[in-house]
Amino acid sequence: MQHLISPIAYVSSPYTQKFGIPRQPNLVPQAKIIIELNPEFSEASVRGLTDFDYIWVHFIFHDAIDEGWAQMVRPPRLGGKQKKGVFATRSPHRPNHLGLSLLKLEKIETHKTVQLFCSGADLLNGTPVIDIKPYIPFVEAKTNARSGFAHAAPELLSVIWQPENLADKLDKDLQLLIEQSIAQDPRPAYQNIPEREYVMRIADKEVHFVIQERIANIIKLVEINN
Ligand code: SAM
Repeated sequence: MQHLISPIAYVSSPYTQKFGIPRQPNLVPQAKIIIELNPEFSEASVRGLTDFDYIWVHFIFHDAIDEGWAQMVRPPRLGGKQKKGVFATRSPHRPNHLGLSLLKLEKIETHKTVQLFCSGADLLNGTPVIDIKPYIPFVEAKTNARSGFAHAAPELLSVIWQPENLADKLDKDLQLLIEQSIAQDPRPAYQNIPEREYVMRIADKEVHFVIQERIANIIKLVEINN
């Protein structure tokens, strides 16, 4: 049986490239996105949803489709050294390229379209959303459940700005988003090249940083003019 699935909404996210996006939701509370429903969905379609703090967002890993999928993948959490079955991971490289993120629903606004404001996102700008459902803790929260190779949040890096005044002119929310995102250690699994300069695009900035030991040094900000 075949069933055609089409997006019901699209994501506006400060993450405009895959490098640097948190590897799971809620790791970067400052990662705020807007999910804009397609015009055929009215305010009625989300009536009652603001009574829930969290929503399940089903989406398509649209920027991984061309990369295909594999039976076994190397989760970054295992340092890229060990393989696990694709269905034992949250990898974007899976047969139907479907993703699932639990996001905090901050508010809903309706103007010409319905917009869901969420935080703690791990989604790329332009991500197509295929469904939204309320999170029901008494059914879904299993705090003592075993969780394989992903048993705790990864250890954070310390983040510093050098020169210290580099962030002075930055909007404080954006500064926090940059710091929280880089603290996640976006380097490819266990890459440890102290002299390497990494560049992450976030909102309208290109953020240049190096990582030595467990300290990330943000050394340059470049405005992106689209
Ligand atoms: N929470 C989701 C899940 O478990 O299905 C996503 C987990 S996946 C490991 C998160 C990563 O997917 C992000 O770090 C980012 O690199 C990538 N990603 C996010 N949105 C994407 C998109 N639309 N297309 C391709 N990759 C995406």
